[in-house]
Amino acid sequence: MKNRTMITGEWIEQKLKSGFNRDDLRLMLTSTDHEADLLYRAARKVRDEVFGRKAFIRAVVEFANSCRCSCLYCGMRLNNPDGIRFSLDHQELLAIAQQAYDNGIRTFFLQAAESESYGAIWLRDVIADIKALGMGVLLCVGVHQEDDLELWRKAGAYKFILKHETSDRELFEKMKPGFTLDGRIEWLKTLRRYDYHIGSGPLLGLPGQTIDSLVEDLFLLRDLQVEMSSVSVFLPAAGTPLENEPTGDPELGLRFIAAMRLFLKTTLIPATSTFERLLENGQYRCFEAGANVITVNMTPQKLRDEYTIYSDRFYVGLEHARNTIRKAGLQETTEGELLS
Ligand code: SF4
Repeated sequence: MKNRTMITGEWIEQKLKSGFNRDDLRLMLTSTDHEADLLYRAARKVRDEVFGRKAFIRAVVEFANSCRCSCLYCGMRLNNPDGIRFSLDHQELLAIAQQAYDNGIRTFFLQAAESESYGAIWLRDVIADIKALGMGVLLCVGVHQEDDLELWRKAGAYKFILKHETSDRELFEKMKPGFTLDGRIEWLKTLRRYDYHIGSGPLLGLPGQTIDSLVEDLFLLRDLQVEMSSVSVFLPAAGTPLENEPTGDPELGLRFIAAMRLFLKTTLIPATSTFERLLENGQYRCFEAGANVITVNMTPQKLRDEYTIYSDRFYVGLEHARNTIRKAGLQETTEGELLS
């Protein structure tokens, strides 16, 4: 059997110059704890060289949870009869955005399940009013009409996140019945055509996912030239066909963050809440692996338990986000400052 290459500081330096191939990325994702520490150190160095020792906070509001899709892993799937369906109104959203602004946050993230429950014109007006507060507006609302994309872009939304979830075609179609990976990729390219900065990434730990497919996830993110790349760890949601499946491995997730930082270098990488839910100091560890964004959840308390992308969620508060950035030895900044 071929001897396994060991990851060393020199190996990482050399690969940063020559480029990482699939075998290299596979090696990184299956690294030992000692090797992973070297990868995390190198990832921090790359992040700090590109962005400085800084991170920013964005605020998310999950404003509607009724969905026309039936993703197997999601508690809000159409076929799940449990839970109440909600949709926030314009004034509620504006008040929350103002609160975020007053707390120094300048990126507002409007997230919703994929649905017609909110109209395109309604969302356009919300975007325009939040933009007028002096906030950058980021959307994560799934697939809609091309006309809507144009409407929202003109109203001031400048970024759009659409997770590809997995680059494994078969697994994608199994997890998202009625949809194809190619369709998803095409949609990401459409977003680009409408002049959005785009974000994507996998859900790590889906049943049946392989290391090789995670390597392909990295290549897909690179090929799409995403500005934002992220990874969430699979946590089973109650009432779904996957509710009894094991959770994904957050330690592998941390390796994936480091691989994104070393392979993609310039993307914004969030420390997502699933890590905090699964690991002690999980989001701090994401920063240690190369992340530079954290998202505060500002969905009203009475509703956020109904946004069941997974069960028993960890909700990131402002104090926790600030403490985590500080603990990681980073300076809090805004997105505008970070990218200027
Ligand atoms: S993951 Fe998104 S698109 Fe899929 S069922 Fe859940 S809310 Fe709908």
